[in-house]
Amino acid sequence: MSKKILVAGAGGFIGSHLVKRLKKEGNWVRGVDLKYPEFSGTAADDFVIGDLRDTGLCRHIADTRFDEVYQLAADMGGAGFVFTGTNDADIMHNSASINLNMLEACRRKNIKKIFYSSSACMYPEYNQMDPDNPKCSEDSAYPAAPDSEYGWEKLFSERLYLAYRKNHGIEVRIARYHNIFGPEGTWCGGREKSPAALCRKVAETEDGGSIEVWGDGKQTRSFLYIDECLEGTIRLTRSDFTGPVNIGSEEMVTINQLAETIMEIAGKKLSIKHIPGPLGVRGRNSDNKLIKEKLGWTPSMSLKKGLEITYKWIKEQVEQTKKAKK
Ligand code: NAD
Repeated sequence: MSKKILVAGAGGFIGSHLVKRLKKEGNWVRGVDLKYPEFSGTAADDFVIGDLRDTGLCRHIADTRFDEVYQLAADMGGAGFVFTGTNDADIMHNSASINLNMLEACRRKNIKKIFYSSSACMYPEYNQMDPDNPKCSEDSAYPAAPDSEYGWEKLFSERLYLAYRKNHGIEVRIARYHNIFGPEGTWCGGREKSPAALCRKVAETEDGGSIEVWGDGKQTRSFLYIDECLEGTIRLTRSDFTGPVNIGSEEMVTINQLAETIMEIAGKKLSIKHIPGPLGVRGRNSDNKLIKEKLGWTPSMSLKKGLEITYKWIKEQVEQTKKAKK
């Protein structure tokens, strides 16, 4: 049956893809964001441009009893945005305000189901020092010690959602996303994440040249393709499990391996120049035991397959930008 759905952050990377997916299912969707999606038109039936830090705007958009609300809006970016420290006050103030306002607006309208996108950045730094054996099982979150203010805000907001569940009976669903990537994500400008940044560097560099990688490139991560993220998000929202639960890939690679895979896809041989830069934790990988147990599902697409699709899209963006500059 068709549902009435509200997506906050619908102009962003994951939000704009989620709206497309929910529309394909035949639902009525309202999106809200500070901006329209950057790379293609929105698929939403109704799109409100507005600031979710404004309580009035949140009440205005949550004007009916939506069947599902997806709260994806946040002030966020990759390591170059989150780990330099220069954006910490904005990150904490803006994202916490959005979550406080959205939950209160949903409570006032008696909206019963809200999904919240937390992040693997809330896991304690002390469990992520060994690049080969990072620990990110859901029950390892406490004692809390995230390595960024972005992670602390996510942890605060997870608790806020759980408090609204406990005191106001709202069915909340909380996912901890691990590095989501794919086409139509930020690929330049300072907020891009490593897969997009490396795809851009490889696409911009002539065969035989060199690209820069922050740190020694031996730090490990896993990356999840956008379609898998959406599948997990929708499955969780429609399940009877609250979470928090990891939505991520268990295919852990070093950043050097990530760069090499992209070079292989591009058919280029480039050397890697390691330079100082903001890094984050030494190792991180999703732990999918809980999602498998609770939802009977885990992501299965290989990193390489997702990178092939993403590289093709970023290469097109690079070429279009070059042409426009001529
Ligand atoms: P994104 O930056 O592309 O999307 C976030 C959107 O929120 C943006 O379009 C932005 O304009 C909007 N927004 C910010 N402040 C707003 C405000 N005051 N009012 C209205 N809209 C506002 O990020 P994304 O990658 O799509 O991430 C979506 C969510 O998932 C975020 O909460 C993020 O923290 C979380 N997450 C993402 C990843 C990832 O790898 N992409 C990993 C972990 C968690």
